[in-house]
Amino acid sequence: MTYSKTVETLPHPQRPHCAIRQELFARCRRLIVKVGSAILTGDRGLDRVNIHRISDQIAELREHGITCVIVSSGAIAAGWKRLKHPQPPQTIPHKQAAAAVGQSRLMRAWEEALGKHELNVAQVLLTAEGIKDQHRYLNARHTLEALLEWGVVPIINENDTVATDEIKFGDNDQLAVLLADLMGADLAILLTDTDGLYDSNPHTHSNAKRIALISSIDESLFSMVEESTSQVGTGGMKSKLMAAQKCTHTGIPLLIAHGRQKEILLRLYQGESWGSLFLPQN
Ligand code: GLU
Repeated sequence: MTYSKTVETLPHPQRPHCAIRQELFARCRRLIVKVGSAILTGDRGLDRVNIHRISDQIAELREHGITCVIVSSGAIAAGWKRLKHPQPPQTIPHKQAAAAVGQSRLMRAWEEALGKHELNVAQVLLTAEGIKDQHRYLNARHTLEALLEWGVVPIINENDTVATDEIKFGDNDQLAVLLADLMGADLAILLTDTDGLYDSNPHTHSNAKRIALISSIDESLFSMVEESTSQVGTGGMKSKLMAAQKCTHTGIPLLIAHGRQKEILLRLYQGESWGSLFLPQN
């Protein structure tokens, strides 16, 4: 799929947005990269080629001094495809069971891909409910800090056996924002199957225009977003917009970009205008 070049349809700050993007990455030391199910899986299960591509970029970003924490969906999709079920699971218990099958395969794929760069990975399964408890919040933070101190790449997913928040609505978008706050990230990137926010659904409207820079999120933006969700995830753009709202209110900028765009993380790092950048709110 190809996308139209940047068209600004919302008011934006004075500086050209590429300069803002460059500055953002120049100052970025800690980055949350959330990768959606549609980016990590294909018709036959896990998309190992794309997992390798993303891992290669994460390894390169580390050489530029950027430490990445990965929030990875894809367990449910990897599970039901592994079980060769013709359709995605419909009930919550079946989705949870599929996630239990897929999670270890997902981890193995990340381990292989990042291992190629001599990087160790750690599986961290969290729930939003768990992190709300102060004691557990601190436990999670201390564990993650220790992993980063050792140079290990944390791969985080919702613990789907005990929680269903992201299964019902979210595709880990909200979890990624909680993590960004918990880890004091400088930036969060949501990699999905659309190159950011459009003024109409780009899958159904050929003249849809991408919004490259968003300085405030209001109701008009929400009403612009049609509820659209890919077959293998539960997120959709509304969930991403809600995540952007929460993230920018905690003072952390958020980018939504296409996870199958070639070298997307490195291109964003160079300040190229891909996806939609949501600037931090006061
Ligand atoms: N935790 C889920 C997974 O890994 C999130 C994806 C979804 O919401 O469908 O599959």
